Amino acid sequence: MKKGNLTPKKNGKTKKAAPGLRKAEEHFAQPAETQKSEKPAGKKQGFWAKLKNLWYNKLKKIAMSKKLKILIAVVLVAAVASGVFYLKAEKRERDLKIVELSARASYLNTTKEIAAVAKPHIEKLIQDAEREGMCLIVLSGYRTKERQELIYNSAVDKSKVAYPGTSEHETGLAVDLGGCPMIDGVRNDDGQRLELRNDFETLPEYQWLLSNAAKYGFSQSYTEGNQTKTGKPAESWHWKFKY
Ligand SMILES: [Zn+2]
Repeated sequence: MKKGNLTPKKNGKTKKAAPGLRKAEEHFAQPAETQKSEKPAGKKQGFWAKLKNLWYNKLKKIAMSKKLKILIAVVLVAAVASGVFYLKAEKRERDLKIVELSARASYLNTTKEIAAVAKPHIEKLIQDAEREGMCLIVLSGYRTKERQELIYNSAVDKSKVAYPGTSEHETGLAVDLGGCPMIDGVRNDDGQRLELRNDFETLPEYQWLLSNAAKYGFSQSYTEGNQTKTGKPAESWHWKFKY
């Protein structure tokens, strides 16, 4: 029993001695360490103290006010909702099914493509225009991003061509329309064609579109009036289907 009692005491003494030594070491080491870190610590403290002061005196009151919380919540909800809506709309347009246009609607000896949802409307528009003596054809319809890249890279004036990935043609909903000659009220494929031209607005077909295209769901994307909004020059031949 006695031996058993002594052992812990010895151990206790030994255990206490070691921390004592460490303390002494630390005591002598401390001033040097403190001196080294005094300057940066002082600067940091000053900055954080000022910030803390500012927080408790002014910012906390503002941050905790109900009005600000409601405003932040409203802004966050609006931002998320508009982002989701935009992405959904964009995805919907990019995922449209693409189909071939009829030979009558397409530019001579080509088969243009368009979004399936717009096809019956543009074909009806062209058919009805023809009944009224107008001859319209689709010079350009759906374009892949790769096709848009080719057009963009080979364009002399790049300001007139949409950057790949941003063209309305890549959705399949936009068409570039041209006029075509008619003989006795029928499209004349042997006659001289009117290619995509900058003065499409001078043709009677353009005037007809202005009066009638909306009935078929088409509108001119880039007009003189919306240039500042779209940042693009007016294109009288470029029409987009809205659904
Ligand atoms: Zn176009």
